[in-house]
Amino acid sequence: MWQQQLERRLAQQRQRGLWRQRLALAPLPDHRVDDGRQRLCDFAGNDYLGLARDPRLAEAQAEGARRYGAGGGASHLVSGHLEPHHVLEERLASLTGRPRALLFSTGYMANLSVLQVLGDGYMQIFHDRLNHASLLDGARLGNARSRRFHHRDVDDLARLLARSRNDAPRLVVSDGVFSMDGDIADIAALVQTSQRFNACLMIDDAHGIGVTGDDGSGCVGPRFGTDQVPVLMGTLGKAMGSAGAFVAGDNDLVEALIQFARPYIYTTAQPPGVACATLRALDILEKEPEHRQRLHYNIRYWRNSADQLGLPLTPSLTPIQPVLLGNSQRVMQWGHALRDSGFLVGAIREPTVPSGQARLRITLSAAHTHVQIDALLDALARLAITAPFDTEPAS
Ligand SMILES: *Cc1c(COP(=O)(O)O)cnc(C)c1O
Repeated sequence: MWQQQLERRLAQQRQRGLWRQRLALAPLPDHRVDDGRQRLCDFAGNDYLGLARDPRLAEAQAEGARRYGAGGGASHLVSGHLEPHHVLEERLASLTGRPRALLFSTGYMANLSVLQVLGDGYMQIFHDRLNHASLLDGARLGNARSRRFHHRDVDDLARLLARSRNDAPRLVVSDGVFSMDGDIADIAALVQTSQRFNACLMIDDAHGIGVTGDDGSGCVGPRFGTDQVPVLMGTLGKAMGSAGAFVAGDNDLVEALIQFARPYIYTTAQPPGVACATLRALDILEKEPEHRQRLHYNIRYWRNSADQLGLPLTPSLTPIQPVLLGNSQRVMQWGHALRDSGFLVGAIREPTVPSGQARLRITLSAAHTHVQIDALLDALARLAITAPFDTEPAS
């Protein structure tokens, strides 16, 4: 019975061209990887500053493991909350200009936690349509009612808020940098609209931390205060090059998460060495702005040349640079062809993005050289001739 059901669903997944596969990669120098067949330049990851393979982070992690143990040993509420976790929380609060921050093992769990606790059965949640899946899943965990507003459209948000019940708490949630499109939320407009309707605002800055803002403090950072963006979430496994995530806000928010968040309470603390690696990454972020500068230089360099090729880009000014090809088969075809030419890029299909909006998700890093970016552009230019994309993008 159940086996047949799985077989049927798997066959369907294949037929629809949605089959997902993993690679078992061995990292090489110069932001390259070995897939067992060939060497590929990595344009698919989220290691925007090249910190994931910085030997200083590895050293900090090893030293942390020697000192505090390889694993957390227990949940944070039992005996797993160790010194480096605590110090890291203080550093993250200070980076974002908030009274407190709470560390999580993953961003997925941080989002589940916030939405479970704030949702709690009677909160109404308003999502940007392109919000990350973890935010939508969290809303379900909290049994909250969710509505979605048009992407980056605060007028649509205001319309939904005006029609909603104002006798129950409301939460507006948006990604800071949208993970599949690379564009940035209009934080000031979200603040204004949320305040007008007396709603709480949460920003998921997973891809902004370390990348945007003059000091790498993200799309929100200390520029928008706790009174404007009461709930700020960020991840540490992307630009920060380690792993984990945090939620920053006032004391009551953090205490409520500690008291009530099931994905926080019922899980083992992050390995302490990972927190040590993140602390090292924060030092580097502060003392070596050249990584962020090189990243933004690479982004400008890529956009100039990609524009000249007429590639269907989004208006992204972040390291996430999608090439919108529309249909899934074309995306897979380009993805495979690029791989044969020595490049690893993300091939993103539904349900991660809406149907008809399949894309290559190319990500840039401070670790890429212009020679590597030029080579990728050459390969894309050849593909645009041999397997052209639809010039009419699907709506
Ligand atoms: C990656 C991501 C997450 C999840 O973070 P992990 O630490 O990878 O679990 C949450 N939100 C957004 C917008 C993301 O891009």
